[in-house]
Amino acid sequence: METESLKLLTKKQLEHLRELGVEGIRFTPTETRIEAAPVKTGTETFEQIHQEIGNCTRCPLHEERTHVVHTEGNRKARLMFVGEAPGADEDAQARPFVGRAGQLLTKIIEAIGLKREDVLIGNVNRCRPPGNRPPMPDEVAACKPYLLREIAAAQPEVIVVLGNTATKNLLDTREGITRLRGNFQDYKGIRVMPTFHPAYLLRDPSKKRETWEDLKKVRDYLDNS
Ligand code: URA
Repeated sequence: METESLKLLTKKQLEHLRELGVEGIRFTPTETRIEAAPVKTGTETFEQIHQEIGNCTRCPLHEERTHVVHTEGNRKARLMFVGEAPGADEDAQARPFVGRAGQLLTKIIEAIGLKREDVLIGNVNRCRPPGNRPPMPDEVAACKPYLLREIAAAQPEVIVVLGNTATKNLLDTREGITRLRGNFQDYKGIRVMPTFHPAYLLRDPSKKRETWEDLKKVRDYLDNS
């Protein structure tokens, strides 16, 4: 019954239903119910958000940056990674996580059976802080709303927050990464897995084992949901 009914809907029709906010169609022996899921429906596009950011001067970080570095990847991704802020390579290339830490992040993504293009990758701040220092609270306050709007638009199922800055700022907590890592947290109904930042793993490779444990939990969750 279920598969027969599904066969009657083309991929295009399903996509259209999804655009209208229909998240799922439930088939039971006696009824077919269409479920609307407004939470899943993004109200704005990344293009609109990026256009609004423009040639941003909302915080002092604009003074020394070369490029604003936006979130990139698959906007329908089930999985998103969030880091702190661009470094020198990212500032030069206008892409997140393309330096040494980024190469390690790509390997981490591949280790759970995905490709970099399959996921979303972004940062709390979009401009490089001088000397790669962590962004200041006023700098985070100016930039974080755009990340939150992208998350609302994309509605990933899981967000991996990389390191202390991303963890504290997405979850609005003072708890550090050492306490929170490895356990799913919640951001507006989205599962959030805090784990170590790849730049930290480059400094202390012994922490890769714990990171792998954290990412296996993410992989298992995605495989079973
Ligand atoms: N570190 C981050 O937190 N983000 C990047 O994009 C690169 C390095």
